[in-house]
Amino acid sequence: MEELRGRRVLITGASRGIGAASARAFAEAGAKLALGARDERTLGALADELRERGADVVTRRCDVADAAAVAALVDACVDAFGGLDVLVNNAGLIEPIGQLAETDPAEWGQAVDVNLKGVYHGLRYGLPAMLAGGGGVVVNLSSGAATFTLDGWSAYCATKAAVLMLTRCTQAEYGDRGIRVVGLSPGTVATDMQATIKESGVNAVSQLDWSVHIPSEWAGRAVAWLATDDAADLAGVDFSLTDEAGRRRVGLPAPKG
Ligand code: NAP
Repeated sequence: MEELRGRRVLITGASRGIGAASARAFAEAGAKLALGARDERTLGALADELRERGADVVTRRCDVADAAAVAALVDACVDAFGGLDVLVNNAGLIEPIGQLAETDPAEWGQAVDVNLKGVYHGLRYGLPAMLAGGGGVVVNLSSGAATFTLDGWSAYCATKAAVLMLTRCTQAEYGDRGIRVVGLSPGTVATDMQATIKESGVNAVSQLDWSVHIPSEWAGRAVAWLATDDAADLAGVDFSLTDEAGRRRVGLPAPKG
């Protein structure tokens, strides 16, 4: 992934899980990083780790539900590095988990604010910065839940489906201006989100043995790979890591069984 050296990469929800693993993968490839999340302490520790390994990193506290905070994170990236080449809309949450008519409207609304509007905010403020530099790549974290229903996950399924449509809409509007937008559907990944799912006991995903989840490092590597020219054919679609062909393209082991 030598071509990522010097690329200016912004990642939301970078404090833990797939976001942090993506930051490590981009840093290893020599990219410059603007990282946002709500937990400044964890984010700061990650930034220290990456700087010790030679990476240029800026961090900002950023709740993606807050448009102004996302705009400020983009500004921080442009101020520090002179532009933005890769935007990773990663921040997301699984809650509320439960039958639709028993969910709390405020929690359901929070899922929309983070999972859907958070991605919109990233695009709204990230695209002008990318266009100013002649283009770039957007990776939106998607899910199998964007196209399949899962019991008790109405907010997650509906917001991820909407993000897939945002991926398509953005590609259609900006594809001829040097922007490529792709979704990553990583399969199940061993992160705090899967721990929350397991604890809920709701639907088949919560019953999966922990060993079937892929490590977050694999998902992070896929995010970084999607920003390379090798993935240029994957515009306006969700790319899946659940089948052998997808794994092979990223250079990851084939799925078990
Ligand atoms: P995770 O371990 O729960 O981490 C979520 C990250 O998002 C954290 O860094 C968290 O940081 C951040 N975040 C949450 N709410 C935020 C907000 N309002 N503003 C900014 N950051 C926020 O989740 P993950 O498994 O890494 O998931 C990352 C993405 O991958 C999500 O979009 C998820 O839907 C998607 N995904 C995950 C799986 C899986 O199996 N794990 C499968 C398919 C797709 P702070 O708490 O510090 O803000």
